[in-house]
Amino acid sequence: MNASFKKQCVTDWLKRGLDGLALVRAVLAPDTGLKVAVSSSFGAESAVLLDLIAQVDVATPVLTVDTGQLFEETVAYREQLVDHFGLTDVRVLKASEVLVKGVDPDGLLHQSEPDMCCQVRKVMPHAEAAADFDVLITGRKRFHGGGRGELPSVHGEGPHIKVNPLVRHTEADLEAAFVDRSLPRHPLVAAGYLSIGCTVCTHKTSIRDGVRAGRWAGKSKTECGLHAAATQTYEIKTQENGL
Ligand code: SF4
Repeated sequence: MNASFKKQCVTDWLKRGLDGLALVRAVLAPDTGLKVAVSSSFGAESAVLLDLIAQVDVATPVLTVDTGQLFEETVAYREQLVDHFGLTDVRVLKASEVLVKGVDPDGLLHQSEPDMCCQVRKVMPHAEAAADFDVLITGRKRFHGGGRGELPSVHGEGPHIKVNPLVRHTEADLEAAFVDRSLPRHPLVAAGYLSIGCTVCTHKTSIRDGVRAGRWAGKSKTECGLHAAATQTYEIKTQENGL
């Protein structure tokens, strides 16, 4: 898919001010010819995005990384959501064991060099799978704060269009979606985990401290690196499109 057509798609979606299910429908419309995948962690809020995807096309490829350090509850939840939504193309991505053993022989890399640990266990296998697609749909929201605070609904990032249908969703919107759509909950949410990644890098937190405050607690790191900060990669600004 050439760059000018991608830019045309992004401009069209931005001009129409699409969000939520309407944006998912536009992105997954067969006539675009775009190769689209979803990136999901099967974490605390993932069911809301996967519900939108499943309402449009259950065969949409879903990319999810298994670092070998996931909570067993997350693995079980992934299987539960696949069944619940009838998803037919969930791709579980893993780093090569040889590579992991080579860079992290004692399993303590997350303590000394968490960026490197995420790079090897998450970013590299995800990037390899994502290379087959033009568009990646993510579940990021502005209310999570940090680098997500000004995230646009659609932006360019390297070779990909990144689409964030839930970017304007609030915590209340998510709760309403869980209730209205009878969505299964991640079992660890009730235990106080509001954002869920690897066991060794995830702690319980509260809304007051921030949804993502339990991720890499005590470290300056706030993102795993699957998606670069939009402010650094913003190719098509909403202002330029008159929005
Ligand atoms: S979240 Fe922690 S354990 Fe998981 S890949 Fe990143 S640094 Fe490593």
